[in-house]
Amino acid sequence: MKKGIHPEVKDCTVTCACGETFTCKSTKSEINVEVCSKCHPFYTGKQSRASRAGRVDKFNKKYGFDKQETAE
Ligand SMILES: [Zn+2]
Repeated sequence: MKKGIHPEVKDCTVTCACGETFTCKSTKSEINVEVCSKCHPFYTGKQSRASRAGRVDKFNKKYGFDKQETAE
């Protein structure tokens, strides 16, 4: 590796909004995140409240796509 062009890599403590903490390597010593693998819906299998509200439904309602269209 060339000297002087690579940032220093150190152990980093990642703190999630759910309270989960874990360590990784980073140029920063501390990182705050909003979701991690412990609380992300993809890993928990649960839908988050925001998406459960039905963003697609909201969109469809807004533009009237939820109404049953009669075929003519
Ligand atoms: Zn989390």
